[in-house]
Amino acid sequence: MRRDFKLRRSHLDAWANDVRDSVLAYFEAANATPLLCPGTSVTDKARRALMRSFRRKGERATFAASVPRSARAIALDLRVEPGSPCANCGEASKTLESRIAFVSRGGVVRFDGKPRTTTGVCPACGAAQEEEGPPAPDEPESSVLRGMSEL
Ligand SMILES: [Zn+2]
Repeated sequence: MRRDFKLRRSHLDAWANDVRDSVLAYFEAANATPLLCPGTSVTDKARRALMRSFRRKGERATFAASVPRSARAIALDLRVEPGSPCANCGEASKTLESRIAFVSRGGVVRFDGKPRTTTGVCPACGAAQEEEGPPAPDEPESSVLRGMSEL
């Protein structure tokens, strides 16, 4: 089933920039090239948006199909859902959300960097969208690893 709205490149770029800015410090702390393990929900277009995003910061991102045993990596997924309509004009909106697991030496670790978020702007009227994201989880994210290759 196709979703009934079109995902624009600008949606993916904003999402990719948020992912990048949420995880870059994790790799910089180890002077490591970002290693990303995207789940199957991360489409080719979304991967390309991530590549572009890292490149704009002068970083190469490497993609791996499975989570490595020794290296620092992140695993992520992508969920696209209709958001609340614009409070100002009623235009439909989309939310792109990712669970991100920080992995080191084959295990999930806690990374205390702040996740980057971007407040969306209504494409029709320019009004800023109201925040409605879930609160940050207390435990390190690991559920995204379910369904991926074994550690
Ligand atoms: Zn609007």
